[in-house]
Amino acid sequence: MAESTTSLSPEFDPRSPYYVDPDFEPNENFPKVILSQADDNYFTWKNLFLQFLRRKNKTGFVDGTVEIPEPSSPLYQPWEVCNARVMSWMMSSVSEDLLAHAAFADTARKAWEDLRKIFVPSVDFKINQLRRRILAMRQDGDEVARYFGRMKSAWMELREYDRLPECSCGGCRCEVKKRAEEGREKEECYAFVMGLDEDLGYVRTQIMMMDPLPSLDEAYALVNNEENLKNMFG
Ligand SMILES: [Zn+2]
Repeated sequence: MAESTTSLSPEFDPRSPYYVDPDFEPNENFPKVILSQADDNYFTWKNLFLQFLRRKNKTGFVDGTVEIPEPSSPLYQPWEVCNARVMSWMMSSVSEDLLAHAAFADTARKAWEDLRKIFVPSVDFKINQLRRRILAMRQDGDEVARYFGRMKSAWMELREYDRLPECSCGGCRCEVKKRAEEGREKEECYAFVMGLDEDLGYVRTQIMMMDPLPSLDEAYALVNNEENLKNMFG
């Protein structure tokens, strides 16, 4: 009896990264964020664009896990089509001045790397830049919620590059990670309260006298509460 071979060729198999979607439209619902140097929004853009590629099962074309097949391989043609699609998605979601940096790359993978190098020339550089940005951050008349949002996203970005140490003691008695986490939380809390406007200076003092210091989210909740009271009673 003949074996039943129901497996689809990859270009027709929606679960394969080589799947060539016949319903392809060049202007599919991209992430709304356009990558630009003026907005310095690489972190946000990268995460949204990867989510988009994940829905299409195409992240392998930028992270290097889908390799270029030999030109004689039956996968080569679907690879070329998918690669071109990922490229066109990418080029449709970057600002014009960035096109020149990436549009002429041979592969989506290369274009992805070229863009990354513009925004993250090195991890140390990025860490330094983010730390300086955080220290310079002030509420500056903004609503507390907006100021907190700016600060929180900068700290989240920093965590991506300046990772906390992992413990290797097994069953953890060294508490390396716990202590590093506590240290980072203190830094986050301090940076947040130090940047508050003067009319909230008394909450800053209150928070800084707390022992233990609250986390950034807890500090935000306290400050937000004060801001609401202040708005209610003048
Ligand atoms: Zn440990």
